[in-house]
Amino acid sequence: MNGPYDLHCHSIASDGTLAPAALVRAAHEAGIGVLALTDHDTTDGIAEASAAAQAVGLLLVPGAEISVTWQAQTVHILGLGIDTGNAALQDGLAGLRAFRDWRAEEIGRRLARAGIGGAWAGARALAQGRIVSRTHFAQYLVGQGHAASVREVFRRFLVCNKPGYVSGRWAELEDAVGWIRAAGGLAVIAHPARYPLTASKLRRLIGEFRELGGVGLEVVSGSHTRDNIDTMAALCRNERLLASCGSDYHGPDNCWIRLGELAALPAGCTPVWQSERWPLH
Ligand code: AMP
Ligand code: MN
Ligand code: MN
Ligand code: MN
Repeated sequence: MNGPYDLHCHSIASDGTLAPAALVRAAHEAGIGVLALTDHDTTDGIAEASAAAQAVGLLLVPGAEISVTWQAQTVHILGLGIDTGNAALQDGLAGLRAFRDWRAEEIGRRLARAGIGGAWAGARALAQGRIVSRTHFAQYLVGQGHAASVREVFRRFLVCNKPGYVSGRWAELEDAVGWIRAAGGLAVIAHPARYPLTASKLRRLIGEFRELGGVGLEVVSGSHTRDNIDTMAALCRNERLLASCGSDYHGPDNCWIRLGELAALPAGCTPVWQSERWPLH
């Protein structure tokens, strides 16, 4: 099956606002032919998304976006084409979700100390028994009138040095790449231009990532500027990585990222789906 490709998006299984089936239908309507569902630290939406994809004739790539701590920095690693039944992968993701649960409670405690009560319960109610992310806290705080937008909540409460920020350790890079490989998937560094890393540190991350068996860089992302795309395309070619593209779509209420509007991969990049390692030929 052919593209267009969108290899990064979220459903209500993590912090997106569409159910997996609704997301697949929206992607199909936007003209996407191959969609990867990559929820944060869970594959719970994949079964529903796959069934919906089959119904509309879209190819669903089973994926996940794994939270990693690398040199004190949170980095997101996409696993594309993973076998969701793999025990090593699922054990790893379960460990991350346990950390998430603890962190959510701690975020709630810290916000309470800052004078905002009920945030843990509020975020959990929005997550409806699924993973609790900072996005749910942000939505709850907006609903309670503490800020005008999700972005503002992040800026004022949820990032480093702000009252609701909780540091902690996500997966090791080695483990995340290992789980993805064990599950037969390709590991891709998500939105590489979004990390506060110097160019040399980003190259060090890429070097370690490649040593561990990582293969791709998300060159085109909904959160990348034209400059970011060109920079990452050059890095991709120089570092001999495969190029991926994904919107990082979280739902229709985020109006600056829409489905089906991704820029093309720059010339000279080898797309992940053209690699002989692509698990879905
Ligand atoms: P978590 O994995 O729970 O720490 O939440 C990270 C998620 O929060 C990301 O995947 C984004 O969807 C969202 N996010 C992170 N930073 C911001 C921001 N500044 N504004 C809005 N959403 C953000
Ligand atoms: Mn997210
Ligand atoms: Mn991410
Ligand atoms: Mn994402």
